[in-house]
Amino acid sequence: MSEELKNKLFDKKESGWKKINEDEKTKIAELSKKYMDFLNKSKTEREFVKNARKLADEHGYKDIMEFSSLKPGDKIYFINRNKSMYLAIIGTENIENGLHIIGSHVDSPRLDLKPNPLCEDTGLAYFTTHYYGGIKKYQWTTIPLSIHGTIVKTNGEKIDICIGEDENDPIFTITDLLPHLAQDQMQKKLKDGIDGEDLKLLIGSIPYNDEKGTDLIKLNILNILNKKYGITEADLSSSEIEVVPAFKARSLGLDESLIAAYGQDDKVCAYTSLAAMLELESVKNTAVCILSDKEEIGSVGNTGMESHMFDFFISEILNKLGINKPNLLDKVFCFSKMLSSDVDAGFDPIYASVSDKHNAGFLGKGISINKYTGSRGKSGASDANAEYVAWVRNVLEKNDIKYQIAELGKVDIGGGGTIAYIIANKGADVIDCGVPVLSMHAPYEVTSKYDVYSAYKAYTAFWKE
Ligand code: MN
Ligand code: MN
Repeated sequence: MSEELKNKLFDKKESGWKKINEDEKTKIAELSKKYMDFLNKSKTEREFVKNARKLADEHGYKDIMEFSSLKPGDKIYFINRNKSMYLAIIGTENIENGLHIIGSHVDSPRLDLKPNPLCEDTGLAYFTTHYYGGIKKYQWTTIPLSIHGTIVKTNGEKIDICIGEDENDPIFTITDLLPHLAQDQMQKKLKDGIDGEDLKLLIGSIPYNDEKGTDLIKLNILNILNKKYGITEADLSSSEIEVVPAFKARSLGLDESLIAAYGQDDKVCAYTSLAAMLELESVKNTAVCILSDKEEIGSVGNTGMESHMFDFFISEILNKLGINKPNLLDKVFCFSKMLSSDVDAGFDPIYASVSDKHNAGFLGKGISINKYTGSRGKSGASDANAEYVAWVRNVLEKNDIKYQIAELGKVDIGGGGTIAYIIANKGADVIDCGVPVLSMHAPYEVTSKYDVYSAYKAYTAFWKE
């Protein structure tokens, strides 16, 4: 009797892998394969945007600047300084009734080279770094690392570099102290074990031509760079070079149910929303896909979500629809709905004490919805309204998409933020909605293939609504 009633009344949070059919299993495997392939060539925001543009072009999208006017069904994008991108399909509904926006970010925690990175110390050459985003510094030592980026010369010439991804490339690493001599280091708090200044990338050890003199290893490295790219030491100061893990995205587990990869925060939501967008044909409300930059350091700067570039994109749509007038942009935002598609902290049984089991996102149980983020007393949270949560639940339930409603960790323990509040501040209804991740912000993050597929289905359903 009670079992029957439980079945009727309880919110059963079952694994999505239960009762799954062969057709769905195949679709999950196909999407995961495409996602992992995309990740392997898109480790930085610039690479992600470049590859997203390629896909968008193949799917009939065009730069909004090529249009003098827009009409329903037009597929457009805008690329902001090669690091963030907005895509849209003009809907059949009057745009004054609001947009359906899905917004993720394509930057991930990493090590950036310092402006004057090249140095030599006692027989070894290094690139010095300044870490980007919230990392546990010790995780970045003694692993294979690659360097990706863009160097711009004073004449405007751009050189893209990527070393350490091809099997025939050399890789790089950051050394750590051997345990035999680490007594003092091992007494330190975990967060102080590795100093930020000590995240120095080892890049060489051969002196130039056996001549006598100083800095000959640095000279040899610069000579190699000059021959390969035509650059001098000063050119490194006008560059954005990122040090990222050299590992490939791989299937994880004997049952191959999981994905291990660098940068899944938030490229998992960025890729699944992009893939969903590219398959859309026509939509009622204008569908907008945001791939933003600089989320990991507070969404600041002209490629971050706080910048006015997004408003500019939407204004440009209103202009080209021929309907713009004072305050229309505000009106459009006030009637808009958004899924802030960012990852959730997946429940980890090894570290169960930081989560409330009844309010955590579990791997394999579908897309994770955070009604609010923020920390300790909802500080800094964009808290979705009950009416909007119900609207989102309805979309997911009628499309048979598995979801879980969660929050990020125990009340007094931590928390986090996304771009949700930025669009909410413009007046839109916003909720966080993404894939649960284990080892978030680590060089190798873990997701469930089932959740990746759920995210793709959820984003498709939201836009089709
Ligand atoms: Mn994120
Ligand atoms: Mn993050």
